[in-house]
Amino acid sequence: MKKPLVGIIGLGQMGLPMAGNLLAAGHPVLGLDALPVQAQALAGQEGYRAAPDLAAMAAARVVILMLPDSDIVDDVLWNQGLAASLSAGTLVIDMSSSNPTRTHVNAERLEQAGLAFVDAPVSGGVKRAREGKLAIMIGGPDSAVARARPVLEALGTTLVHVGGAGSGHAIKALNNYISASGLLAVAEAMAAAQRFGIDPHVANQVFNASSGKNSATEQKVEQFILSGTYASGFALALMRKDLETALGFMAQMRTPTAFASCCVDIWRDAEAGLPARSDHTAIYRYVQEGG
Ligand code: NAD
Repeated sequence: MKKPLVGIIGLGQMGLPMAGNLLAAGHPVLGLDALPVQAQALAGQEGYRAAPDLAAMAAARVVILMLPDSDIVDDVLWNQGLAASLSAGTLVIDMSSSNPTRTHVNAERLEQAGLAFVDAPVSGGVKRAREGKLAIMIGGPDSAVARARPVLEALGTTLVHVGGAGSGHAIKALNNYISASGLLAVAEAMAAAQRFGIDPHVANQVFNASSGKNSATEQKVEQFILSGTYASGFALALMRKDLETALGFMAQMRTPTAFASCCVDIWRDAEAGLPARSDHTAIYRYVQEGG
């Protein structure tokens, strides 16, 4: 059976490989990015077409957003007129790491406009985006989630329906708080070990065989920190944004934020102290240089 045309807006580090996997799964894809070079990156691949403008997205029954943050998502949906140009009944899937409160508002507004919506942010980074093995956390009503699933299955291997609209974005922000605090802890521990004269490769080998193991020790330390590349493909500014989202959400829930507040402050300082557009793994350089 012919698969439906999927629109995707935001063809950056994540959106581009995701669009590639939609094509590989047999979906025709209509792509759009503010940067023409990104929108054209898949030109020539069978099934791919670059959209001339947002209005062209009216041809798609499913439109994915993979944009940096809620400000840009809202700008595209409401100021630039995406919501107004979509055909009735179109499903919008916000896969960006957006703000859950603002997502809740968007879900209601889109529903009033006769459109369906789910939030479906992802985890796994550029590597798993390329492999089509992302973890996808989904928020929204059962009917919309059922429509989204066949499309999301082309992008990820673990799809979890978390709850109502915004719950995917809430759990994503909380997950990244855990991830960022784990990476920061590893950075501080490694800097101290190194200063003592311990080979950092050996230190990480020990962490990975011990109770200190986490996603940073397993997937970031050797690959992006000790290799000196600092090129995971996830910007430090985006991690700081996710931490601010998590902290704001926890404050709204009136649950403790002592550790999260401290963590956010350090990541903000690191962003200010490191070159613009640094990768999030460069937090290690910031820590090593004395914070
Ligand atoms: P990115 O900056 O590489 O890509 C964003 C893309 O959106 C860019 O190509 C940019 O030109 C485009 N864009 C910006 N404004 C636009 C507009 N108004 N209209 C059309 N296109 C526009 O970011 P990314 O790393 O791909 O991240 C995208 C989202 O996924 C973010 O919310 C991020 O937090 C989240 N995320 C990223 C990773 C990762 O490892 N990079 C992992 C999980 C989640």
